[in-house]
Amino acid sequence: MTQTYKVSDLTREEKASLTSGSDFWHTQPIEREGVRVPAVMVTDGPHGLRKQAGSSDNLGIADSVPATCFPPAVGLGSSMDPVLAQRVGEALGVECQIEDVAVLLGPAINIKRSPLCGRNFEYISEDPLVAGEMATGLVRGIQSKGVGTSLKHFAANSQETDRMRVSSDIDPRPLREIYLRAFERVVRDAQPWTLMCSYNRINGIYASENDWLLTQVLRDQWAFRGLVISDWGAVNDRLKALSAGLDLEMPSSGGRTDAQLVAAVASGELDEDALDVAAQRVLDLVERAGARPANPGPLDVDAHHRLAREVARRCLVLLKNDGDVLPLSRDAHVAVIGEFARTPRFQGGGSSHINPTRVDNALDEMRALVAVAGASQAGAGRVDFAPGFTLDGSGDPVALREEAVAAARAAEVAVVFLGLSEAEESEGFDRTHIDLPTGQLELLDAVIEANPRTVVVLSNGAVVALPFAERVPAIVEGWLLGQAGGGATADVLYGLANPSARLTETIPLRLEDTPSWGNFPGEFGHVRYGEGILVGYRWYDAKALDVAFPFGHGLSYTSFSYGEPSVRIVEDGAMGSAHAGDLMVSVPVTNTGDVVGREVVQVYTSFAGRSRVQRAPRELAGFASVELEPGQTCDVVVRVRREDLAYWDIRVDRWIVEGGDYLVQVGSSSRDLRTSVTVAVEGDPVRLPLTLESSVGEVLADPVAGPIAQQAMAALMESTGLGAPSDETSAGSAVMDAGAMEQMMASFPIGRLVGFTSGQVTEEMLNALIDAANVQR
Ligand code: BGC
Repeated sequence: MTQTYKVSDLTREEKASLTSGSDFWHTQPIEREGVRVPAVMVTDGPHGLRKQAGSSDNLGIADSVPATCFPPAVGLGSSMDPVLAQRVGEALGVECQIEDVAVLLGPAINIKRSPLCGRNFEYISEDPLVAGEMATGLVRGIQSKGVGTSLKHFAANSQETDRMRVSSDIDPRPLREIYLRAFERVVRDAQPWTLMCSYNRINGIYASENDWLLTQVLRDQWAFRGLVISDWGAVNDRLKALSAGLDLEMPSSGGRTDAQLVAAVASGELDEDALDVAAQRVLDLVERAGARPANPGPLDVDAHHRLAREVARRCLVLLKNDGDVLPLSRDAHVAVIGEFARTPRFQGGGSSHINPTRVDNALDEMRALVAVAGASQAGAGRVDFAPGFTLDGSGDPVALREEAVAAARAAEVAVVFLGLSEAEESEGFDRTHIDLPTGQLELLDAVIEANPRTVVVLSNGAVVALPFAERVPAIVEGWLLGQAGGGATADVLYGLANPSARLTETIPLRLEDTPSWGNFPGEFGHVRYGEGILVGYRWYDAKALDVAFPFGHGLSYTSFSYGEPSVRIVEDGAMGSAHAGDLMVSVPVTNTGDVVGREVVQVYTSFAGRSRVQRAPRELAGFASVELEPGQTCDVVVRVRREDLAYWDIRVDRWIVEGGDYLVQVGSSSRDLRTSVTVAVEGDPVRLPLTLESSVGEVLADPVAGPIAQQAMAALMESTGLGAPSDETSAGSAVMDAGAMEQMMASFPIGRLVGFTSGQVTEEMLNALIDAANVQR
């Protein structure tokens, strides 16, 4: 039987105490005659548990209990598979059950606005659809185990510089279409138990005290039913925060701010109902947590490690593979170079830092695979190793390089592990460049010279520049792969797993090409999101910029061909989870190679006509991944939700689907579009009341006023001699072509006609026209 807790049983002081933590990780318990409210534990996240048993901190300093470190979001996101994310979520939920954790503080879905953001490794994508879909999978998985999630950091927290104060200054369209969109999707589709507000301000107002954000948008518009938690230390003014919709302050304020709330209620400054609402939400969380299935454990460490390896295999992105250098033969003599092969970089620094149950490294795992093959095969391969560099800069770089070069020269293939150390990218600060360390690049140059059959494997939490991309035949972007990443990397290198992951962030050629260049990380407390809606690939496409590797890109050891797509518009809600107006895009995909492989089919849409708003050339509107046997064909159906065709209309403050033709492009990446189809979509009506400030064009577009105005305009033009057909114009005459005249007039406020028509158009006439049109609304 679930215990129900009621706010009406509590004193004002008790209610206030509930709305802030009792320590770093627990809610406040209440224990007295007749009332017993237990504390519940929340803990980081998001790709594993960071349950601190001893001393506590929010920066990943003190140790935590051992837990499985699954691939961080940068890796998992690249799988572009929400079902896989859900499986990871289920495993995380089980670990929370065993550790008696009520809420895992994640997933984190801030948009990767700049490759410099120090926390990009914790975030999923530069695209809100990918971020939203993957996070929905995670939330569903975790919550299916009776454990809560905390969708974070709400919102527009796309940098670490000055993160506790900076104001993200964003126009309404990018705010809705890019930065809030993924949050909206997850809230609507998966109802996370909690949501964490971010540290920063949005257009000048702290997220923690932003009534528009936390109440009007989150609750009134998106119907969020859970609890809003502050990021650790994000509360600036407790009273303002509670009034704006922030329910739980974390960590504990030691009772200081609780007393402020009690005093504010007593003085009438704060309505007691507001306190009741927040306290009841905390009680509801405690109640939900109480219903969690008991799981005494122990954790099946091996099973979760195996899952972590399976998942990590799906996160490696094969960027390039000229001449099929990969997969390696287990008969080959391979030189493994780079300290990261032996000492893996598999997670990021800060609050998400997990104490892993074990850690694989690629070198041992490659050797193990070769040894297994050797036991059953003649002429088994060999794996030599040279560190090439040290992670702490110690040692003699020349000697290290020479050793690596000799190993590469003697081998058939060199596999060079390059990357960034934890000190170079972490929560709490941003990078200032996107370059790999010079020493590593110099090492690579020397290795390529010794052996052109060189494969680069990267370990990095966010995009790095790849100045060597043209000079090596193969590159594997390994991101951060969690504790079993070493084994997964070996599996992919030797072809035991066929890579299928995709870039969910563009790899640019230069930092200077990136959308936020010049507007990152801001100045004097403000960061202007000047690129507007053109974030990530939307920017590179709009500017026709070359990139190193585009959004959505990722190769396989097999190949896929695409047939003709077709689109059907759903007419009623009877089709599973699809809704009326959704597009069901169907395309036959064939595995044309000779190994089993997985293709991530991507659907991009563009408004084909002249849009009333600025648009990106194309936007990802749906994706689905499919595994195919060699020669197998499958009709892949990708659902494009009608709402994903919409833009945010600032005139009416809501999502609007513009009517007209849409180009639906289907392909393997944002720049490898294989096939397309056009579909006509009915628009949402936007009927703005007409005023004397309405333009002639707007009046003409109005179904009531338009035809009347059209006639009147024609008569007016004729009587004034304006708008004579151009073939009748005599040379040097000022008379304007009718079409040009109409275009010029289109933006003319209709009220101004009064002064320009010598009394032929009067204000009374215009008001009558406007009233007639407005009555119909
Ligand atoms: C981070 C959050 C984290 C919290 C608790 C903060 O510094 O921004 O992501 O959940 O600490 O550790």
